[in-house]
Amino acid sequence: MSNILVVGGAGYIGSHTIRVLKDKGYFPVVYDNLSKGHKKAVRGFPFVKGDLGNKKKLKNIFKKYDIETVMHFAAFTEVGESVAKPSKYYENNVCKVISLLDAMVEGGVKYFVFSSSAAIFGEPEKERIDENHPQNPINPYGRTKLMVEQILKDYDEAYGLKSASLRYFNACGAHPDGKIGESHENETHLIPIIFQAALGKRESIKVFGCDYPTKDGTCIRDYVHVNDLADAHILAMEKMARENKSERYNLGSGNGYSVKEIIGTVKKITGLDFKIEYAPRRAGDPATLIADPAKAETELGWTRRYNLERIIETVSDWEKKRKY
Ligand code: UDP
Repeated sequence: MSNILVVGGAGYIGSHTIRVLKDKGYFPVVYDNLSKGHKKAVRGFPFVKGDLGNKKKLKNIFKKYDIETVMHFAAFTEVGESVAKPSKYYENNVCKVISLLDAMVEGGVKYFVFSSSAAIFGEPEKERIDENHPQNPINPYGRTKLMVEQILKDYDEAYGLKSASLRYFNACGAHPDGKIGESHENETHLIPIIFQAALGKRESIKVFGCDYPTKDGTCIRDYVHVNDLADAHILAMEKMARENKSERYNLGSGNGYSVKEIIGTVKKITGLDFKIEYAPRRAGDPATLIADPAKAETELGWTRRYNLERIIETVSDWEKKRKY
């Protein structure tokens, strides 16, 4: 079984993926600068504190741990912030990734699993987004992800570096043991914010826009559990190593839920009531974003273990027990 460096492994999706890797017999080493990640989320795992842009340190780790694959989760992810501070996003999400890839090439690390995003597609041109959908990101965040995908094609051609780019739709949920989950300093995501309202940590949940051309006027998204995403990382990594080929996959459930439906499901599952306010649309939000996961299903054998109810149950459990 090969050794895997998980860059950003103390963050939300990384900390879930290291557990799934370990369960499957892999040896994940966590590398994180803890600017957003949580030390408590990586207890029991080999951990090195370091920055994505520190090429020398990375090359030493590749050698020390005999790393064959790098999984990269250490990106900034807030769309609104990327519009206000593009420099910060291009620096971290593109420049430092180039430095990481160069360290890999120089250190002889063969495989790269990249956290891409549905944001590379921009406004959907059809109901469900497959891998052939046109790529026209509408914000700097989405552009950073698309740029790295393009860089990866060039690095494959020039240096033979193989990669799997995984375009997440709406990552959500928490580990079923309730010990790790989503925890951001300035939370912007819908499900954690609904829980803040439900648990009295904020006054209300604001619904951003109820005049969209959707069934109930609110935005529709494709919510996919973080452990299901973790499974897809491992399947994509294994296929890449087997076939020595770069690939791209859209990762979502193929089902869309409106903001109102998500709020309704949280109310039903928790039995809690809370205040809902209707606010103007948030800039940069497309009405609908739903994945077509057929390629990941047929080529990787990817299936999902968590439906929406189960996702909300895992978040509810995490919110009750959370330690960070
Ligand atoms: N949303 C909302 N109120 C909030 C946060 C989010 O109505 O406080 C909406 C947002 O406009 C979008 C959906 O919920 O339509 C999901 O937003 P989130 O930020 O979780 O993920 P995104 O789709 O932007 O990646």
